[in-house]
Amino acid sequence: MNGKIMLVGLGPGSHDHLTARARAAIAEADVVIGYATYIRLVAELLDGKEVVKKGMTEELDRAVEALDRARQGKKVALVSSGDAGVYGMAGPTYEVLFQAGWTPDAEIEVEIVPGASALNTCAALIGAPLTHDFCAISLSDLLTPWPVIARRLDAAAAADFVVALYNPKSGRRTGQIVEAQRLFLRHRDPATPVAVVKSAYRAKQRIEFATLERMAECEIGMLSTVLIGNSTTYVRDGLMVTPRGYAQKYDGTGASREGERAGRSLSTGLDGWLAAIRASGKSAAELAREHRLPVDYVEAVLAS
Ligand code: SAH
Repeated sequence: MNGKIMLVGLGPGSHDHLTARARAAIAEADVVIGYATYIRLVAELLDGKEVVKKGMTEELDRAVEALDRARQGKKVALVSSGDAGVYGMAGPTYEVLFQAGWTPDAEIEVEIVPGASALNTCAALIGAPLTHDFCAISLSDLLTPWPVIARRLDAAAAADFVVALYNPKSGRRTGQIVEAQRLFLRHRDPATPVAVVKSAYRAKQRIEFATLERMAECEIGMLSTVLIGNSTTYVRDGLMVTPRGYAQKYDGTGASREGERAGRSLSTGLDGWLAAIRASGKSAAELAREHRLPVDYVEAVLAS
């Protein structure tokens, strides 16, 4: 019998948000491995299975253990909160497998079962904060140097992304969120909406709205995700909303604005913008400043 490793995303931790495939994967498994909290979340699905609880920092151990069991012909479910591929076990597992000489056509099959990640579930609880470009940044410096994290925070803040901060704070890591705030305030309005969602879809769920200016004062912990809006995000009636951009194209009555057409790129979309900058007679340097783009990029598009 061939072994199998299933990387199962449990979603936020409520049964209603566990996918049918995640449930079936756990049912199919002989062995279930995971951090104790996640094992607890699926406790009643574990009858008759071997359960291996591991601590938080033993990710590589968990992956090695999964490989050992799969080699014995067992079906192993490695359970993660959210999605196993988002700051989860999927990466370390493939790294351990590759190091052991595994290939996708080897006898051990690997399946990743997607789950709703914290950013999806936290967003759903507070409105519609992610309806425009967003990114996720983990503030954990356990495996990532601070300058790398700080550079990403700075770039995301400057580029006006909506940002989901994972691992924002723990008992020992309290300064990272303060630094994140400092970096964001260099680019963003202090009144930018922020939401802190703790334990989404779990018994201790808690939601707190704040502003960027007050972000670091919020109650934030290991089970919180912090969502920072972009320059157009607003909070109304307890809901955080990031406009999709329809106001750029349509007026209040639903009619297209002058020069815009439904189903077509904006007049300031790629083609319209190119035509406009070519016709402007302005220098690449001037255009670069105006549009906050690299000069060599503007030169290249003008020349193409
Ligand atoms: N694989 C997980 C993320 C693991 S990293 C996922 O896809 O969601 C752990 C971080 O995820 C926590 O520090 C927190 O920022 C976030 N997180 C996980 N579950 C959460 C929940 N139910 N509510 C709020 N944040 C959560």
